Amino acid sequence: MKLFSIFGNPVSHSRSPLMLNSVFKALNYNASYTRTHLLDGTKLKETFFNLGLSGANITVPHKEAAYEACDEIRGFAKKVGVVNTIINENGKLIGYNTDADGFMFAIKEFGDIKNILILGAGGTAKALSARFLEDGIKVSVINRSEGRLDYFKEIGCECFTWDNFETKRYDLVVNTTSAGLKDEELPAPKNIIDAVLNNTNFVADAIYGKLTPFLKLAQEKNITFKDGADMLLGQGVLANELFVNKELKKEDIKLHMQKSFLL
Ligand code: NDP
Repeated sequence: MKLFSIFGNPVSHSRSPLMLNSVFKALNYNASYTRTHLLDGTKLKETFFNLGLSGANITVPHKEAAYEACDEIRGFAKKVGVVNTIINENGKLIGYNTDADGFMFAIKEFGDIKNILILGAGGTAKALSARFLEDGIKVSVINRSEGRLDYFKEIGCECFTWDNFETKRYDLVVNTTSAGLKDEELPAPKNIIDAVLNNTNFVADAIYGKLTPFLKLAQEKNITFKDGADMLLGQGVLANELFVNKELKKEDIKLHMQKSFLL
């Protein structure tokens, strides 16, 4: 039996085990998927091999550490230095990033987006901003601490901290911070969040499974919003395809993952 896991801290909220196990069970694929609470990202590789894994997903806050842990990086992950999916290929760890394409799938329904504000500057923000720029979308980023903004400045995003933020009109504002994941915090001070919500057409949060304080405010202001469930589905389908080496059909994976959302 093949074993897979998700690594994160926190990780108890993750729906990936339910999603992936539903697919394996429905399609009679001999595999099982667990969750691993990992405190220290530098222990990722060692823990991966100790658990005897064939592959893994990586979530907050270890996606950049996952990039470092891999022997080889393929595709879009190379461009952003952020890995959310690892495959064990003959004892070598191969890193991929499926978050960005997963998110593009999630925002399709918002139509033509030209101008995005990203809240946060972690691994997810890196992947999304690089992907948006590839599509010719203008990207602004605002983060609590300045230190993480260098990457975003280099690739051509407009960057702000909470101290120097000036709001503009946006098509979409995305929360990629972990504020609201395990607490009831907003991703930035309330005056900033009010200003951006009053100047956007759509709102999205990478967090799923709860109405975050950020999404609650968007709802109160009657803005069309979505949580991170479709992103989870999008990145999960692509990761699962890699896990099973395309032995299962993408449409079947998607169908059974979607069904698991109803459980
Ligand atoms: P990282 O740890 O790499 O980055 C976290 C970011 O959040 C940093 O910019 C950090 O700012 C900011 N932050 C953390 N706490 C606060 C706070 N209280 N107020 C303001 N900013 C804060 O995390 P990831 O990028 O890996 O993940 C971010 C979120 O996205 C998580 O909630 C994760 O669950 C979710 N996610 C969901 C996915 C899905 O499929 N739906 C896929 C990927 C991620 P600073 O630099 O100042 O510390």
